This record gives sequence, C-alpha cells and structure tokens, in this order.
Amino acid sequence: MEKVNFFGQSLEDLKEILKKYGKEKFRAQQLFQWVYQRGVTDFEQMTDLSKTFRAELPNIFTFDLPLIVQDLISTDGTRKFLFDVGGGKTVEAVLIPSEDRLTLCVSSEVGCNMGCRFCFTGKQKMQRRMTAAEIVGQFVQADKAIKGDQRITNVVFMGMGEPLDNPEAVFKMVEVIHSPWGFNFSRRRVTVSTSGLVDMIPLVAKNKVRLAVSLNATTNEVRDFVMPINKKWNMDQLLAACKDYTEETGDKVTFEYVLLKGVTDSIEDARRLKKVVRGIPCKINIIPFNEHPDSGFERPDEDTIVAFHHELMDIGVHVLRRKTMGRDIYAACGQLRSKFEGHPEKLDLQSAMT
Ligand code: SF4
Repeated sequence: MEKVNFFGQSLEDLKEILKKYGKEKFRAQQLFQWVYQRGVTDFEQMTDLSKTFRAELPNIFTFDLPLIVQDLISTDGTRKFLFDVGGGKTVEAVLIPSEDRLTLCVSSEVGCNMGCRFCFTGKQKMQRRMTAAEIVGQFVQADKAIKGDQRITNVVFMGMGEPLDNPEAVFKMVEVIHSPWGFNFSRRRVTVSTSGLVDMIPLVAKNKVRLAVSLNATTNEVRDFVMPINKKWNMDQLLAACKDYTEETGDKVTFEYVLLKGVTDSIEDARRLKKVVRGIPCKINIIPFNEHPDSGFERPDEDTIVAFHHELMDIGVHVLRRKTMGRDIYAACGQLRSKFEGHPEKLDLQSAMT
C-alpha cells in the first residue's frame, strides 16, 4: 500500500488505516499523542508500542511538513512564515500576538480565484488547493517555532485562498487540531472567513467553528465591483445565510469591512452598514486598507476612518478597528510570497511599508 502523510489524517482516518493492518483502534490515539503532544515523529522513540509495530510504521506513514523558507519577525511582534509547498510555490502563515492571545492566520489555497479587487492574493490566480496535511503543517511548524511558554490560542483562516473553496482539507485540519489526543484545540477558537460562498456557510455551522464574512460594501453595486463573488450570491443571500448561521450556532458572525478611499468609506456607507447588519447578532471589524502596489485603491485619511468608526458607535454591537500589523514584513497577504517567488517588480519594501 502507498504511504500516507500522517499530518493529513484525522484520528478516525488513522483508526481506519491501522485497521487495514490489523491493529487495534487505540493505537491511533497513542500515535496522535506521540506526534502532536510530545512532538515525536521517530517511531523508534515510541516506547509504548511493540518493537514489531514500530518497525512496520515507517512503511505506512510519512511525516512531510511544508518547509519554512522565510521566517520574518516584525518590530510589533507579528511573525510571518513563508512555506515551500513544492513546485516552486509558496504560501504564507502569520502569527499575530495581542494582549491575551496568539493568533495563527493560515492559508488554504495557493493563490485564489475569488478575485477580490483589493486583495494582493486575488491577483495571483489559484494554482491549487492545499492538502489537509499542508494546512495542519502550517500549525505544527508555527507551534514548533514558538516553543517555550507561548501557545497558539486562536486560528483564523484568513490567509491565502478562500477556505470554503477547499472545505474538505480545511475542516480535516480543524478535526486534527481539535482532537483531545492531538492539540485539544477548541473549535470555538477557530474562525473561518469567507468572501461569500453562501452555499458553504452551513458547513461552518456544522463544524462548530466561528464564521467571519468579508462584507466590504453596503450595496450590491459596490460589492459586485469590489468582490465579484457577489454576482453569484448577492448581499441578501449572504446576509440570510449569516442569520441562519447565528440561529443554528447561537454564535455571532464577524463582518470584516475594508475601508477603501472613495469606494466604501463614506458616512452614507456607515449608515447603510448599520441597516444591513440589523437583526444579525454580529461584531464588525473595520479595516483601513493596507495599500500595496498596483491595487488601484487607497487608504482613507485618518479623519475619514475615525468618522466612519464613530458613526457606528450607536449600533449596539461591538465595532473594532483592526490595527495594521507587521508593516515592515510585507503585511498584505501574498506580498511576501510574491517577493520570494521572484516578482520583485511587483513589490519593494518601501511600498509595503506605506
Ligand atoms: S480576499 Fe480572500 S477570497 Fe478574496 S481574493 Fe483575497 S484570498 Fe481570495
């Protein structure tokens, strides 16, 4: 039989695989503990397994992780990893520290086909969906890199790719890190962000993880322009799916709203936004645009950002202005990858920092 990558297997998958080799189910738990809780991938060190079993295991499993080819730490503590995923392709993951948490932002696809106009990754067409092992691998590698007293407390699927375009691998990764024999990571600390794949939103509820929606407009006309997915599923359909999610899970949905100068940043937009989200238990993150070369968009000035935020103050929901982190290490998703893969003409450090 062909060898399988251990990191792409849930506990249930592992039980099935071991069953084929005539092994007891509890062996899967033992293996999970060795690999995820003790960080051991050398079968010889797994001393509670019989010698014969240990000798068989290398014929069944590999432990292939995406290699870290860049590891950049920002002056604000943000840490960006660039992973080699083969074929000359790379993806990014980012560790974002804050007062009480350490959030890992992971990628789910190499490039992205959603074409959101403000997004650097969206300019780089999708080459392929990532495997579950590669997504788990980002977590394992980041966890290893921070070893010490720190732990990853939250995972967000807000890196490269549309996670709901690769649901099987994304939710398999959640399954692996959630396992009590693995990282015992709470599902409630995982957030899946979507550009608006409405028909996939019920899967987010089913997997009991949190939902974030990149809203970024208050009318269909503007959203059609900024996020082409809106032509397939319009705002009414998207908001109805969000409402269903909140009813099914009892959780709030987080609406992400990027402020683009002259496009989504007016006071009328802020007023419409209040109406648009009315009746949906939610939080709102407003994100002043992080400029990058050739985006065609600008960041609003500070007064406009403050006025927009202020207009939402009486809405009765939590409205947070997201800080731009890691400006000195290519903050916009996809920028580091673009530089590394040899497109320096698309990027210079000075531009990335403005
Ligand atoms: S914002 Fe997300 S979904 Fe949209 S193009 Fe960028 S990576 Fe894809």
